[in-house]
Amino acid sequence: MSDGSIENLVVIGSGPAGTTAAIYAARANLAPLLITGYQDGGIPGGQLMTTTHVENFPGFPDGIQGPDLMDRCRAQAERWGTRLIEADVESLDLSSRPFTVTVDGRTLRTQALILATGARANRLHRPGEDTFWSRGISACAICDGATPQFRDAELAVVGGGDSACEEAVYLTKYGSRVHLIVRRGELRASRAMADRVLANPRITVHWNRQVGHLSGADWLEALHLLDAAGEPAEVLSVRGLFYAIGHTPNTRLVQEQLQLDAAGYVVVRPGGPETSIEGVFAAGDVADPQWRQAITAAASGCQAALAAERWLSHHDLAVTVAREPVDPVAADLPQPTTPVTEASFDPAALWQGGSYALRRLYHESDRPLLVVYTSPSCGPCHVFKPQLKRVLSELGGAAQGVEIDLEVDPDIAAQAGVTGTPTVQLFLRKDLKQQWRGVQQRRVVREAIEGLLAGVA
Ligand SMILES: Cc1cc2nc3c(=O)[nH]c(=O)nc-3n(C[C@H](O)[C@H](O)[C@H](O)COP(=O)(O)OP(=O)(O)OC[C@H]3O[C@@H](n4cnc5c(N)ncnc54)[C@H](O)[C@@H]3O)c2cc1C
Repeated sequence: MSDGSIENLVVIGSGPAGTTAAIYAARANLAPLLITGYQDGGIPGGQLMTTTHVENFPGFPDGIQGPDLMDRCRAQAERWGTRLIEADVESLDLSSRPFTVTVDGRTLRTQALILATGARANRLHRPGEDTFWSRGISACAICDGATPQFRDAELAVVGGGDSACEEAVYLTKYGSRVHLIVRRGELRASRAMADRVLANPRITVHWNRQVGHLSGADWLEALHLLDAAGEPAEVLSVRGLFYAIGHTPNTRLVQEQLQLDAAGYVVVRPGGPETSIEGVFAAGDVADPQWRQAITAAASGCQAALAAERWLSHHDLAVTVAREPVDPVAADLPQPTTPVTEASFDPAALWQGGSYALRRLYHESDRPLLVVYTSPSCGPCHVFKPQLKRVLSELGGAAQGVEIDLEVDPDIAAQAGVTGTPTVQLFLRKDLKQQWRGVQQRRVVREAIEGLLAGVA
């Protein structure tokens, strides 16, 4: 903070762009405040929290899970002194300086601001999409095309613009055949791109077709097409479906404040992070209609932090904070929960893992019990688990939690009717009182437990 009430720099968004900006700003002793986001426009950690293997981020020769990469970026930012607010920014006022940021019911003021709120790949919302998302359906051919499941398989791309054409051509390197599903009777892509597609013998274009529904078992197996009148047409046996129907940048906060392009992306100085308002910088997918990769987002986060630092010192606005110790302690990375055994079980522990702990607490505990179903590659679980642990610790032992890893204890999850992660069940004395699927606000869970405690008292 600069004078106790005005921040030097607020970074909004905790994807690769926001966390990289925070790392650079923290190392420049600006004590940045990183507002991670929570549910609006993505979860803390951003888009990579929703994927499994990231094989193209430098420094990880064997690849890394998206959520693990983002845990590391966040830990690195915190290690150098970034402060975090885990919430969505509700509104921004950029009309006068210092800028105002409303978050979590509070109003903050800041001299400089980096907007790194990312973008969302547009979806079709067709039946089967949720089931096969990341199990055959992907929004990023460049990211996922080379994975083994798609090798020598029939693949499909939906879309008719430059991205769709580029992705179709790219995927011919891996798939045995690529079907391009085009809604109209022509391609919207540039002539050169369209010609490349039409001349490629491994691409079949399906004109005037829409995606109807998707089917398969554990993995996508078939794509049911509809004709222009919405009547059933061909069924394509494909193992991969790549969406190339555009992205929506998360610019709700700056509508009518910053200059945006026709597609809604923040307009920045070519090659730089400066926006139409001095002191406001943009980084990552929110300002990048073209590349939208983790590494390009991280690189622009670095640029934004360096530009913000220069701008703050040029205007003599920064109040730097000396770091003690100069070399910070090692980063604090989340550790997996190890299942307890009869010997290590603790009836009073706030959080334990595994089926043994579940059995014991379910039968013996008279406190509210949260049963939290997770899996190692589930990014939203990385987000929700610390929130749940915080609730339990705030309640000072009045309630307990057990974590069940679906990969370790699939039978328990099946018995409980759990089909996805994170799923949280709240029990009291063996009675299921409530169930949540997906990331929730902390207060929702806390209020539910407090309600049970009030009934017990
Ligand atoms: C399924 C999938 C797989 C991918 N795989 C790869 C890959 O293998 N390699 C690769 O390089 N790229 C990959 N990408 C692309 C990559 O994830 C993005 O390019 C990158 O995450 C963009 O980073 P970003 O920081 O700009 O934004 P994002 O990662 O989108 O992060 C945006 C952040 O802003 C926050 N936010 C939004 N609104 C608000 C608000 N109102 N208040 C506060 N915070 C807010 C969100 O919570 C989030 O933390 C993939 C994308 C997807 C969807």
